[in-house]
Amino acid sequence: MIKIIQPCTIEIAENNFKSFHIKMSYKEGKLSLYGVIGAKRNGDAHGSCGQNLDELKRESLKLAKGWTKEDIEKLYTIWKRWHLNDINSQCEHQRQLGWEEKGLKEVTHYKYELNYKTILKQEKIKKEIIKLLDIGKTVKLNKEQIELINLPYFFNTFDELANEDFYKLDKKVSKKLLHLTPEEHPEGILTKKCPICGYECGTEWLFEEVPDNIIEWLFSRPKPENRYSWK
Ligand SMILES: [Zn+2]
Repeated sequence: MIKIIQPCTIEIAENNFKSFHIKMSYKEGKLSLYGVIGAKRNGDAHGSCGQNLDELKRESLKLAKGWTKEDIEKLYTIWKRWHLNDINSQCEHQRQLGWEEKGLKEVTHYKYELNYKTILKQEKIKKEIIKLLDIGKTVKLNKEQIELINLPYFFNTFDELANEDFYKLDKKVSKKLLHLTPEEHPEGILTKKCPICGYECGTEWLFEEVPDNIIEWLFSRPKPENRYSWK
């Protein structure tokens, strides 16, 4: 089932309103929506396209015939909640708890590597130890030396090291909380259990059936006021 609707026009520049068309597809239980603003005949568009549902939140939009402000809000909620219902990585409870938004939050992961100066110092201590052992002496290291020799080559952290003497920054990457386990980051949600059903977040792609009344509502929306010329 495929249907194109046009709930409103959007002001893309001052006093320049373009039609917001949304292509809805419902096949084998999967719902997907795709928006385009100001579709051009050549497949290009004057405005945004794709998952541009946030455009429905604009103050300046003009309702199309047969649409109310409430309809627009309802459409937004449905789009956000049910688009690609077959690839949910969270259960319904986790989504209700706002884990979806939380999962999109990004944190910076810093990967440090021992700096050359420190490697040389470690080498020096090791050599001294070997030398002493060779001549049958007992090795006694001071606290500072023990600390130094035990420093791992790589060091990963979510907190940037300040005035670091031993390490140099090797890599800095942004990671979403969605892709981090609670062991990796205190706020990470990957594999975190749902407090209600116990489902471990992100461990499966869950299919959730779209309620009939939602499909009925979507596919009974009025026909587009302005023609859709996109192919
Ligand atoms: Zn659950």
